[in-house]
Amino acid sequence: MNVKKIISTFKKKIREINSKKNYLLKKQYIPDILNSINIEVTNICNLKCKFCAYDKRDLSKVPLKTMDMNLFKNVTNQCIKLGYKNFGLTPVTGDIFMDKDVEEKIKYLENLDGLNGYYFYTNFIPIKEEKISNLFNYKKLTHLGLSIYGHDESTFIKFSKGTTNSYRILLKNLEFLYSKLKTHDYEFQIEIGHRTSKDYLLDASSSDLSLVLKKLRSLKNVVYDKNHSFNNWGGMIQENDVADLNIKFQKGLTKKNGSCSLIYSRLSIGANGVVNACACRDANFSLQIGNASNENLSNIISYNNKRYSDLIESQEKNNFPSVCESCDFYKSIYEKTFPTWAFKKKRVAYQSLNEVVDRLKKRQI
Ligand code: SF4
Ligand code: SF4
Repeated sequence: MNVKKIISTFKKKIREINSKKNYLLKKQYIPDILNSINIEVTNICNLKCKFCAYDKRDLSKVPLKTMDMNLFKNVTNQCIKLGYKNFGLTPVTGDIFMDKDVEEKIKYLENLDGLNGYYFYTNFIPIKEEKISNLFNYKKLTHLGLSIYGHDESTFIKFSKGTTNSYRILLKNLEFLYSKLKTHDYEFQIEIGHRTSKDYLLDASSSDLSLVLKKLRSLKNVVYDKNHSFNNWGGMIQENDVADLNIKFQKGLTKKNGSCSLIYSRLSIGANGVVNACACRDANFSLQIGNASNENLSNIISYNNKRYSDLIESQEKNNFPSVCESCDFYKSIYEKTFPTWAFKKKRVAYQSLNEVVDRLKKRQI
């Protein structure tokens, strides 16, 4: 075991001990539940990444769908009335630019009173130059996440099952974005989430993709994050799905201690209106607690909704549904964590479970 590994194992152990102590003391750190909620504009994607649950979902449970404009207006208005301040637009799978009406939706958000901001990830392929230029007109866009898979043409194809043509479009779009960023004023943050093999280092590579990423990395508000560690999407991804990617695949079960903070602070409203208590690793929406197409959100995201309160109570007793049992993305409410990438550098207020439950009880059924 090398020194780095020993330090990280030691830190993990300390975290576990503190978490257990907090569980006994009933000391929770739930990121402000009104800070953000996720609204899935579309669950359709142009890629089929090997490490992603997108093409392994059960389509009878989660049909391919883009949210229609009326439902979008309805749920965004309800979320504002409930007090949510920021919207994530790409919670689970899908690329936002696969929705041909995405700009109409974004313009609606730009004029929505009470909304502080919105953020999303994209693989930056199903977008044209005009739409890239329009990003600079949006005042409430706080974070633009660029998901990059592989580090040259062959690894891009290997990771994403995309085509040579998609790779060329990606390069062209990144170059165009770079030229706009160089010449325009912008306030939004950009996170380049680069997911590729263990042996890759941006600084040591001169592939065409690496060259444009290096240029982007040097600009204002751009954070570059390379990651070769992938998780199993609640057991949906098996080791042999990613065997040829030269990555670190997390197989071990994550130790769980009390409920997961995502069921409070990272809820998701799917493209078909289904409200799910996890916006991250539950691609089949098995933690669904209602449907916003035919019920008010104040009744669904409420402690008076038995499906939701049962989930909270059983997770608190360390009794997890099967998707959570095998999930390695779990974040205990007995540890301080940030709710989502867009807020990792911001101070987010924490609440106790009693405070959260009180707030959820005040919503009517
Ligand atoms: S990882 Fe993102 S781009 Fe790749 S298939 Fe999944 S949703 Fe699509
Ligand atoms: S344990 Fe995993 S699947 Fe369950 S709520 Fe947390 S992140 Fe979602």
